[in-house]
Amino acid sequence: MSVLVYLEHADGAVKKSSLEAVSYAKALSDKLGAGDVVAVGLGSIVNDELAKAGTAGASKVLHVSDERLTAGIIQAHASAMAEVYKNVGASTLVLAKSSLGDAVAARLAVKLNAALVSNVVELPETSAGYQVKRSIYTGKAFAITEVTKEHKILAVKKNAVDLKTDGASAAVEAVSVNLSDADFAGKITATDKAEGDILLPEADVVVSGGRGLKGPENWGMIETLAKELGAATGCSKPVSDIGWRPHHEHVGQTGVKVAPTLYVAVGISGAIQHLAGVNSSKCIVVINKDPEAPFFKAADYGIVGDAFEVLPKLTEAVKAL
Ligand code: FAD
Repeated sequence: MSVLVYLEHADGAVKKSSLEAVSYAKALSDKLGAGDVVAVGLGSIVNDELAKAGTAGASKVLHVSDERLTAGIIQAHASAMAEVYKNVGASTLVLAKSSLGDAVAARLAVKLNAALVSNVVELPETSAGYQVKRSIYTGKAFAITEVTKEHKILAVKKNAVDLKTDGASAAVEAVSVNLSDADFAGKITATDKAEGDILLPEADVVVSGGRGLKGPENWGMIETLAKELGAATGCSKPVSDIGWRPHHEHVGQTGVKVAPTLYVAVGISGAIQHLAGVNSSKCIVVINKDPEAPFFKAADYGIVGDAFEVLPKLTEAVKAL
């Protein structure tokens, strides 16, 4: 039985989180002695880009090139994936946990009468049968879950598994599926992009500011560093509550949960509610003038210093790279 992987893409590129899902699927397949890992891309995307799934561990890549399959048409994505799943004879479908992944996974679970396990991280070191490891309590603990249903959908948490890139590029095969008008019943009539070029929930690098920045007039420092790093900007809750920054930038338990490769926190104390939104980050850098600030306990690198002195120097150093 094959393991199928749903590939998300944006701006012509397969998302890194989807390639991580492929690497997870390959490790799972090797462990269980399952068959091929088959990655599936939907909609408009070039074959060279889809072929990257091969380097991450897919033995085969399928492309349903129907141009109507844009990312917003969730029902159609679920129908297309359900049909490919059945045609391939898969027993497990793996995808990245994301807004789109969550929406597609829930519909697929109903269509395939499958168990859905979310927030999956790397495979458990020792386990018997079909067991997966999940992150629970906003990353504070792990649970091992035994999945007994015949069909399984696993949503893999971003940055939680090693992305393998040593496989061979896979051949891409075009396939078609039967989609009905009902699959396209919901139409997106207009879209409006949030401020900033890089969307916070998807960002690979985030520079975030807290109340330590004293006021909105000082956010230029955050924006300049973010621009140099190709980062999205975020903030703590009080900062958006006071109106220094828009609400969609608020990071934390009650705001956006981010999972970037690099999270830079400037003048943020590191309250537990803020940490709940950032603890999936791969590397956390904290800049705070108080050496006792709780954020330092969660940091990979810490700079004890005044943000107004440290940020300009850091930005100059990044510019000089
Ligand atoms: P402060 O706590 O005021 O900290 C400012 C920090 O800046 C301090 O550590 C200080 O040492 C440092 N500083 C000051 N001046 C400088 C300087 N010149 N240079 C460098 N450092 C400096 N918060 C969130 O962020 N996200 C949430 O989702 C969230 N949800 C919540 C939900 C609930 C139910 C509750 C009760 C609270 C929630 N909070 C949330 C609020 C949270 O508890 C904290 O109050 C908040 O995160 C603190 O924001 P802050 O770190 O920006 O401000």
